[in-house]
This record gives sequence, C-alpha cells and structure tokens, in this order.
Amino acid sequence: MTGPAPYRIVIAGGGTAGWMAAAAIARTMGKAVDLTLVESDAIGTVGVGESTIPPLATYNRLLGINEADFMRATRATFKLGIMFDGWKRAGDSYFHSFGLTGKDHWSAGFQHFWLEGLRRGHTQPYDAYCLELLAAADNRFAHLPDERMNYAYQLDSTLYGRFLRGLAEADGARRVEGRIQQVALDGESGNIAALVLDSGVRIEGDLFLDCTGFRALLIEQALHAGYDDWTHYLPCDSAIAVQTESAEPPPPFTRAMAHDAGWQWRIPLQHRTGNGIVYCSRYLDHDAAQERLLGNVQGPVLTEPNRLRFVTGTRRKQWHRNCIAIGLSGGFMEPLESTSIHLIQRAILRLIRMMPAGPVSERDIAEFNDQQNADMLQIRDFLILHYKVTERRDSPFWRQCAAMEIPDTLAQKIELFRETGRVFRRNEELFAENSWVQVMMGQGIVPQERHPIAGKLRDDELAKLLETLRETTRRTVAGLPDHGAYVARYCGVL
Ligand code: FAD
Repeated sequence: MTGPAPYRIVIAGGGTAGWMAAAAIARTMGKAVDLTLVESDAIGTVGVGESTIPPLATYNRLLGINEADFMRATRATFKLGIMFDGWKRAGDSYFHSFGLTGKDHWSAGFQHFWLEGLRRGHTQPYDAYCLELLAAADNRFAHLPDERMNYAYQLDSTLYGRFLRGLAEADGARRVEGRIQQVALDGESGNIAALVLDSGVRIEGDLFLDCTGFRALLIEQALHAGYDDWTHYLPCDSAIAVQTESAEPPPPFTRAMAHDAGWQWRIPLQHRTGNGIVYCSRYLDHDAAQERLLGNVQGPVLTEPNRLRFVTGTRRKQWHRNCIAIGLSGGFMEPLESTSIHLIQRAILRLIRMMPAGPVSERDIAEFNDQQNADMLQIRDFLILHYKVTERRDSPFWRQCAAMEIPDTLAQKIELFRETGRVFRRNEELFAENSWVQVMMGQGIVPQERHPIAGKLRDDELAKLLETLRETTRRTVAGLPDHGAYVARYCGVL
C-alpha cells in the first residue's frame, strides 16, 4: 500500500535564505516533504552578510550542527556586540552588547539603580556592569558555564550557505541548477503551479519559497504582493562592500562608524575583514562613497567593490497565495543591527510551525503575515532610534534625520525612557530592554527619573550592590582568554 504523495516544496534561490530554509525543512520534515531547490550559478548570490545576533546559535543547535565545525566552515569569529562610533556626535563611541547589564529587580531594570548611584556620587559608567561589553572592549572571549556569555558570530554567509547545502542534500533535498525563466500560474486559483527553467525543465510544487533575493521573482514579479517603502524613516539606499586582509587579530565585535551621510561597517572574520559603506545617495554620490570607503579600510583590499542599491521596506504580504518570501525578497533593512539573517531564521521557523497539511489555509497566511510584520516593524523602530536621537547636526543628512517624524510606537518608547527610565519589551520583541537602554543612553538620552524602589536603598546598601556587581564582572573578564587565541584553539585554525 502506498501512503499519500509527499507535500512538494520548491525553493527558488540558493543564497543564505534558500539553503537555510532547505536545511531546516529537510531536517525537520524528512520524508513528509519532497524538497527541491533551484539556483543559478550564473546569477550568483548577493555576496554580503557577515554579522549576526545570538539566536543563530539556537538555529544551528536545532539542526544538530557542531559549533566548531560550523565556525571552521564559515571562518567565523565570536561576536559580543556592536561598537557605534560617531552616532551621538562625531568622536563619541558607545557599545551595544549582547547579554545583560548589572542585575534587574523584577520591578525595575538595573539602569534605575545605576541612575540612583549617579545621584549619590557614584562615578562608574553603566558599561562597567556588563560582562559581554567589557570582554569585547578587552578582546576577550570564552564559553562560560550556564551560557553566561551571550554571543553571536561574524561569518561568511556565502560559506554558511555552502555548509548548509551539504546538510540539506544529506537530508534528502534535491538541488537543480538552472535559470528560472518563467513562473507559471494556475489559471483558476492564481497560485504558482510551476517554475520553468531556461532548459525547458518544469518544476511543479504545492508550496513555493521565494528566496531569489532582491529580484523577488515569485512574490513580486509573478504575484505582485506589493511593497511598503520606509525610506522616509531610513533614508540610506545604497551600499558598497569590499573585503580586506585582516590588519589585526579579530576583535569579538562589529564596528558601525557613522559618517556624514550614513555609516560604515567593519566585521572581522578569521581570515579577512568585511567592510562596507551604507549611505544616502541624495547626499553622497557613488564614486565619493567608494573613495571614502577605500580610504577608511585597514588592510590591503582583496575584492572588487560590490555596489548595491536597495529600497528599505517590507513586502506587503510575505506569504501570498502558495508563495512565501524569505530573505531579501521579503524586504530589506540596512544591516545596522545585523538583523537580516535573523529574519530569515524567524520566517523559516514560523513556516515550519505553520506547515500546511494540504491546501494552504488563509488563516495560516494571515497569522504568518501578522507575525512577520510585527518583527519588521519592531526592528524598523529600533533602527530609526539610531538616526533620530542624536546630537549630530553637521550635515544635511543628519539634520534630516533629527527633524523627521517618527512612528508613534517609537516616540512613546523614547519619551517614556526619557521621563521615567523605564523600557518594556512587548510581544516577544527581538531586542530586549538591555539593548534599548544601551542604545538610548548611547545616543544621548539621560532619563530624568528613576524607579522609587532604587531610592529606598540606604547609601551602604546601594554602594555594596553596585560594587559587588562591578567587581564580579571585572574579575570574570580578567580571567577570560584572548578572543583570537580562543577561536584558534576552538576551531584548530588561524
Ligand atoms: P541572495 O543571496 O541574493 O540569493 C538569491 C538566490 O536566488 C541566488 O542563489 C540566485 O542565484 C537565485 N536566483 C535569482 N534569480 C534567479 C533565477 N531567475 N533563476 C534561478 N535562480 C535565481 N545580513 C545580516 O544578517 N548581517 C549583515 O551584516 C548583513 N549585511 C548586509 C549588507 C548589505 C549591503 C546587504 C545588501 C545585505 C546584508 N545582509 C546582512 C543581508 C544578507 O546578505 C541576506 O539576508 C542574505 O545573504 C540572504 O540573501 P538571499 O538568500 O535572500 O538572497
């Protein structure tokens, strides 16, 4: 007796998004699905994407990936956060680290106790109470018991795709090489029926994942899902990426250096450094941007500059009919907080939770789109914060950012923090309180108040609390090994 025919999933595109989806679906669903991925070597991938955030470790664990194998394959280093240079004002720096600062009371975050300390004459900076931040500043790293060190990776996403391809194929995914020439629609339902390759091969499916990058071949070119443009909030529209030789041992953090019409990234991998400039073409032309980038890299240049244009925003429906956009096809926000690969991960895990058992349910589509949209909006607000709250007025770009209208959701968050020192994580928001506090204070907000519970502590109690936390953090960091040496030992490389 034969069972029901397996559910046919077709993935269009083999960049990081395509192979992340293929590996996770093949591992989780096994023989319950018939999985095909189509990609074109002639077209290639976007070829950028290096800085990530901590949930990627969870995704890798779900796939049963050994961390050292993964780091060797992707030439990855550990990442403890992002150093923001020149965002509050030129010459000023702050750190957005992973992990927690100090110790929260259930009623009030640690910032309230630190602010109370300031009032009473304590002088230690807020940074002095964060393990990940101090370790990053000192170029140190180690895995600690009970996952006390919260970290992500700086990696080569092209190599990550290749690594995942090996896993996906071993788990039964089929790869087809070729250029998709036509997306064939079913005349009655309007669903996608098949992808037709330029060889004439026709690949039919029940569910299609559009992982074709900025082209959005299925979701937009064939199904016209629509796009919400957020350029009025995040005006950068261009980037140039270039790789250089490493000029120093790799630090465990990414750098985001503001300039007068955007910012520049520096991401250290084991064997090279990723660099790029993000800018608003209204204020900086492409040749000048390239010159500025090449003038501000550290080692010899290894690659031709890779110029990219983008429109910040989101696909109106990430799941439309029997097609789901995953990766750049679903929308784009600049990599200021390293969120793109994470959004891919979120979409894949969400899809697996809502995997159709037969025809696609409109309820699943609505739920998926609501949840995806909430992720996008929350991240968008967090990015806007970096541009809106600043003392910079030194160029037309920064004056535009300081003057722009912002979403009400963000305005509420900023004003609540400014007045009361409070910040709340709502609806499984990606960035937790610690992230918001670090960035809001880093960008220059000093809360006017602190929670009254902090004021209840006697001077000696408050001093003891602050001193114990600071000393424990300092001692832990002093005992950590050098990051570069640790990576070399862990991976058996460098
Ligand atoms: P792509 O890599 O473009 O892959 C598209 C695939 O579709 C390719 O395999 C291509 O061959 C295939 N394809 C397209 N058309 C056809 C066709 N007609 N027929 C057959 N195949 C086709 N993310 C982070 O998390 N951290 C970062 O630091 C970061 N930095 C970034 C910097 C910049 C400037 C940009 C633009 C992006 C950055 N990203 C970052 C995002 C990250 O690069 C992407 O999210 C990630 O690489 C996934 O891309 P993708 O797979 O969606 O698209």
